[in-house]
Amino acid sequence: MRKYLFPAKSNFYKANLHVHTTVSDGEMTPGEIKKVYSEKGYSIVAFTDHEVMVPHPELTDEHFLALTSTEISVNNRYDCDFGFVKTYHLNIYSPREGQNCFNTFDRTNMWLKHSFDYITAEQEMINYDRSYSVGCINDIIKKANDEGCLVSYNHPVWSLQDYMDYIDIKGLWGIELYNTGCARNGYFDSEKPLDDLLRKGERLFPLATDDAHRMKDCFGGFVMVNADELTYDKVFESLKNGDFYCSTAPELYEISIEGSKITIVTSPVAFVGLSTDCRQLYSKGAEGAELLTEVSFDLDWYFKLAEQAVNEHRYIRITLVDEFGNKAFSRAYHIDELS
Ligand SMILES: [Zn+2]
Ligand SMILES: [Zn+2]
Repeated sequence: MRKYLFPAKSNFYKANLHVHTTVSDGEMTPGEIKKVYSEKGYSIVAFTDHEVMVPHPELTDEHFLALTSTEISVNNRYDCDFGFVKTYHLNIYSPREGQNCFNTFDRTNMWLKHSFDYITAEQEMINYDRSYSVGCINDIIKKANDEGCLVSYNHPVWSLQDYMDYIDIKGLWGIELYNTGCARNGYFDSEKPLDDLLRKGERLFPLATDDAHRMKDCFGGFVMVNADELTYDKVFESLKNGDFYCSTAPELYEISIEGSKITIVTSPVAFVGLSTDCRQLYSKGAEGAELLTEVSFDLDWYFKLAEQAVNEHRYIRITLVDEFGNKAFSRAYHIDELS
């Protein structure tokens, strides 16, 4: 029997899950962000202004959904120029449209005077003391998760972070594999932190976002959310469940498995890769001018490896590359989802 890993539903909504407005250090107002993204076919924007959680329900209508979120930072030093220090940047996405405070707010981390105007009375009651350590990051993530929020780990390359900074992080929902603002400044993120964490048993999802501060950061990385309808609850549920893929252009239409045969249906691409938790890889490249739109692989060998249980955290994931080098990534599908 054929099992559909993706999609379970059939409505896709294009989303940018990382943007900054005039609430923090962005150049455009929230309304201007809605306008420019709507004109480019986006249905969802998460407003992730630095250090304050400011909901924008006034922007939501039948064609557009404003997600409530914030981006917080934890620097390892505060006694030298910001450009030299390692930093953790995390996005916290709220399950509640009107949420205007969060439980790891740290007033001492507020670095933009005009953002103080957005601190609510409830927020004033909270002052969490952040420190640059994995223990603190895990506590921040746990506190966010306790509130039902989703937490993403942003642009580790730009943040100057290495393996030791992230390998013991627990409870992340997502990780940026592509951040337009960073990439257009020469900081290309990597798939390695995702695989390292998946191999440790963390179940987190790949993200491509814009991190837009100005027009030149817009319309690069995006997420296609597969949801029943464009409502806050339905979209949040789909995000929470990993019912999406991320991309800088290629489109992923379908992944299904029947026995040991997995089939991937896509927009025309030059390469389809299936990577796993181990050195077992499958790939197909286009031959000549004819691009690929449907590719199947026989995972029989991989399943035999899985029986040996060399690694208890087994998964596959799909990478698409179009003829211009643009990539799309599925989430990881774990061995228990494949049978
Ligand atoms: Zn950031
Ligand atoms: Zn940002």
